[in-house]
Amino acid sequence: MKILQHTVSDKITFKGIGLHTGAEVKIDILPAPEDTGISFVKKEKDQKYIIKATVENIVSTLAATTIGKNGTTISTVEHLMAALYGLEIDNAIIVVNGPEIPALDGSAGVFVKKIKEVGLVQQQKPRHFIRILKTIQIEDGDRYIRIEPYDNFAINVEIQFAHSVIGKQQYICNNITSEEFERNISKARTFGFLSQVAEMRKNGLARGGSEKNAIVIGDSGILNSEGLRFKNEMARHKALDLIGDLALLGGPLLAKITARKNGHELHRKLMMKLINTDDAFKIISLESPFHIDNEWIWRDQAVAAVV
Ligand code: ZN
Repeated sequence: MKILQHTVSDKITFKGIGLHTGAEVKIDILPAPEDTGISFVKKEKDQKYIIKATVENIVSTLAATTIGKNGTTISTVEHLMAALYGLEIDNAIIVVNGPEIPALDGSAGVFVKKIKEVGLVQQQKPRHFIRILKTIQIEDGDRYIRIEPYDNFAINVEIQFAHSVIGKQQYICNNITSEEFERNISKARTFGFLSQVAEMRKNGLARGGSEKNAIVIGDSGILNSEGLRFKNEMARHKALDLIGDLALLGGPLLAKITARKNGHELHRKLMMKLINTDDAFKIISLESPFHIDNEWIWRDQAVAAVV
């Protein structure tokens, strides 16, 4: 586990189409100073709009996590956010020229591979770990999610679908290191049911979706000719989505998360309850295990100076 903050060592560019909008988008991940956190900058004509990657900036959880501010939005940030969290990157600025983060292969694997090729830079200041102090749970019918105190970052996810291709699947890990994330979570792709595609497209969703960037499940099986990457690929992808959403809390977690039939809205509700519950967490450094500050550390000036 990294104790000091890290950023990327150089600009990293990705191009591709958005899963839901189908729009061609280019993104540049830029190095950022200590304590900047993760911020998105959306370029529209000659304007630049800064949207910090925070829970409060989530504006929609319909089929993906969309963040926004003052009417400007960026959709499907979760796989990229998961890649940054999984690789233990604290500070980065992501310049986006379209409405949605590129889907690439539908996982975080392509982000992880290229970011690792370019490499990370260690910075001077300690990372701001979020130590959970109280157990918080959100329930919605037979779905639930719980976060509780723990000394590492642990996830226990279970999904259940009536379709025989998925059925009941789990992903469980009691210590998600960057190696575990890269090997066992990052490459798991998003998935969708062929029977729902027409309806989703009518509602402006899945317009860029295909077998190139999603596991497509038909009535009698998976349509992707290469098959699955893992037997429980769908549960692993739920863990990926969960990590990407939790990354919007703004720091590495010391917590155990248990979830059943979870999705983006349940994640958002859990995080909102967490940050609105008194003494539910504290921010610590692992260098000196004392309370640092209960305020989120964000510097708009730092973001503006880089872009
Ligand atoms: Zn996803």
